[in-house]
Formats: sequence, C-alpha cells, structure tokens
Amino acid sequence: MTATDGVTDPGYVPEFDISQPTIARVYDALLGGKDNFEADRVGAQTYLKYVPDAGRCAQENRQALIKGVHYMARKARLDQFLDVGSGLPTSKNTHEAAQEINPSARVVYVDNDPIVLAHGRALLATNESTTVITADLREPDKILGNADVKRMLDFTRPIGLMLVGLHMHFHDDEQPDEWVRTLMDAMVPGSHLFITDFVDTGEPLQKGMEQAGLESLGNGWIRSPERIEEHFLGMEIIKPGVDFLARWFPENPTAEVPDKQALEPWQRILMAGIAVKK
Ligand code: SAM
Repeated sequence: MTATDGVTDPGYVPEFDISQPTIARVYDALLGGKDNFEADRVGAQTYLKYVPDAGRCAQENRQALIKGVHYMARKARLDQFLDVGSGLPTSKNTHEAAQEINPSARVVYVDNDPIVLAHGRALLATNESTTVITADLREPDKILGNADVKRMLDFTRPIGLMLVGLHMHFHDDEQPDEWVRTLMDAMVPGSHLFITDFVDTGEPLQKGMEQAGLESLGNGWIRSPERIEEHFLGMEIIKPGVDFLARWFPENPTAEVPDKQALEPWQRILMAGIAVKK
C-alpha cells in the first residue's frame, strides 16, 4: 500500500523514522508547532544557533504564503491550488486562506514526508474540498497522474502551483526547473507559479541559514535573486517582482515598503514571487 492510498484508507498509518530530523518537522518546531520529535527540535536549535530569528523567518514565510494565496484567489480569481511541499498543518493553511476569498476553492496538498499525510487527515475530515497526498516534486508525472489530483483539480482551468519554502533550496544539486516545467506544461494559460526561496545577496546571515540547513538536514542552499527569477521559467512575474517577503505585497504592488537596508538582516533571507502563464 502506498502512502497515497492512505488518503482513502482511514486505517493506514504511515511509518516514519523519528531518529532523524525532517524539514517538515523542523519547520513545525520553528513555528512553535507540536508535530515534531527530539531530533527535529535539535535540528531547529541548529537553525537558531546560526539564525537566532529563524522562527520569525518561518512566521514571515507563512504570512507571505497567505499574501500569495490571497492574490491568486482574489486578483487572479483562481479557485484551485496545487500546494507542493505543503508542510504540516498550521494556522492558517492554504485552503483556509483561499476559502476566505472563495469558499469553493479546492486545494491539493502534496508533500514527500508521510507525516504530513498522517496529520493532514484532520484537514480531510473537516473539509470536502481539500486533500493531501504523499508525492515528490522530483516525480512530477506521478503528481499529475495521481487519482486524487485528477479528481480534485480541473486541468482545463487555471491552477495555482505553489512551491513555498521548498522549491529550489532543498534541491539545488538536482534539476528543479525541469520538474516544475512538467507541472506547468500540464496547466492552461492563466495558471500561476508561486515561489518563496532562500536568497544569497552576500550577507552573513543568509550564509548562516544555508549552514544550518546543511548541518541539520544536509540541504537548504541559498541562491542569487537572478537564479530565483530563472525558476519562473521565463513566465511573466507579476508586480512587485521577486523581492524580500517584508517588501512583497502582490495585492498592492505600489504600497510604500521599507527600504531594503532598513529591513532587519533576518528579513533579508527569503524572497517571494508569483508568475503567470500566458
Ligand atoms: N510550504 C510550507 C510553508 O512554506 O510554510 C512548508 C515549507 S517546509 C519548509 C518544506 C516542505 O517541503 C516540507 O514539508 C518538506 O517535507 C517538503 N518537501 C521538501 N522536498 C520535497 C519534495 N521533493 N517533494 C515534496 N515535498 C517536499
């Protein structure tokens, strides 16, 4: 039985190794969640050692997720979302942010950590328009062929593809753009791609975030803003473009925002952007 089968089999209990940290659980620990184990809390401490405000980075990333979902639901009028690397349930989740704007919005959560499926059942029980599957960004064809994805999402209408806090920074040594291209190719014009990612503009704290990831999890690379833009595959990036999370207001791109140098150093670790497929 695969973990995905577990979605329809309420008796299925995925197995996971709690002796090693996973990013889903370390991130949960940084957010102050309870779905983590000792090894994950040690991993979170490693992040805090290098980046004392790593918890605030995680919180700000969640706020950016909500800003992006609100933009896609309200301004782009999307009502279906594929949230890859969704992480453990937290407050507020993608479907809650989307359904604030459009109560009939549908969300498929995808994560390669089976603990997300285990905890995601709580979401499934309460909400008909969400589902969670265990699958990997590195196998985009399996995501597209998944029965729950096909049942929940209408690929003849635009979809919001989300790679928030996962995308390239855990896969720098592989070919992330090809996986994303496969997913975007399956989507019609009007579909959007939403990414947040670790950035490298030469600051020590950014390097610290990378060091923490490499030490605790073996990945979590940083990259230049230009490289982050390349991840949008040449699609049109909506205003205000790719920017630090605290300066990124896609629903109000002309908002007065702090100067980059006025941000705290920890606020210059993650950037966000959304592109639209024409
Ligand atoms: N998207 C959420 C957010 O931004 O708050 C969670 C981000 S969390 C830092 C990254 C998540 O991506 C983890 O839950 C991890 O298990 C998942 N992940 C990492 N690599 C993945 C892959 N190749 N395929 C699917 N999920 C992946």
